[in-house]
Amino acid sequence: MRFITAKKDYHNDQRKATQNSCILNLLAIQTEICYPFLCTNNYWKGDMQEDVFLTELRASLSYPSEERLDKGAVAVIECIQEIPCNPCETACRFKAIIVGEPITNLPRLIGDRCRGCGECISACPGLAIFIVDKAYTSDKATVSMPYEYYPLPEVGSIVDALDRNGRKVCDARIVRVSNPPGNNKTAVVTAAVKKEFSDLVRNIRLIS
Ligand code: SF4
Ligand code: SF4
Repeated sequence: MRFITAKKDYHNDQRKATQNSCILNLLAIQTEICYPFLCTNNYWKGDMQEDVFLTELRASLSYPSEERLDKGAVAVIECIQEIPCNPCETACRFKAIIVGEPITNLPRLIGDRCRGCGECISACPGLAIFIVDKAYTSDKATVSMPYEYYPLPEVGSIVDALDRNGRKVCDARIVRVSNPPGNNKTAVVTAAVKKEFSDLVRNIRLIS
């Protein structure tokens, strides 16, 4: 559902921004289906977009500094839509996330307050919050992510680590799976990956 919304929003934005003639934009909005192999936009073809998105994210107030990332587990908030939403703010008892007024503000992370506890992950209806721990081992980092598929991965299993566009980045080992009733069916899965991939990996796929 997250990808469908993202696609729809993307095509809406594109249509408004360019008033272009791509009929697939309109089709995508009406049908909620994206046509990556026909579309004239490059977003779903994946070229350069990951870099562009990451650059924008890093420049935002919701992305921790490199210095804070190096210190260990910290929230990475990838919320880029100005929507009326703030459960992340109320979920954080350390007051590390500020939305404030108006409620359409993008969330701001105060990295020094964040303990990397992960409470905010399942609280976010947009599935937009991750915890990255670059201090996991000397060469591995962990990425904790919301996960709403079944079956859940098993701790110790090897899975495909995927980027934001669903492309495989590398192998990952599952080190933790948490799905308490209070998470309202949004499990939190933690995967260990090579440290250099921790900014890219945002999803996993089970290997059958
Ligand atoms: S990881 Fe914990 S401390 Fe950090 S922002 Fe989320 S809820 Fe707050
Ligand atoms: S809860 Fe999630 S979607 Fe809502 S403002 Fe916070 S980060 Fe954005």
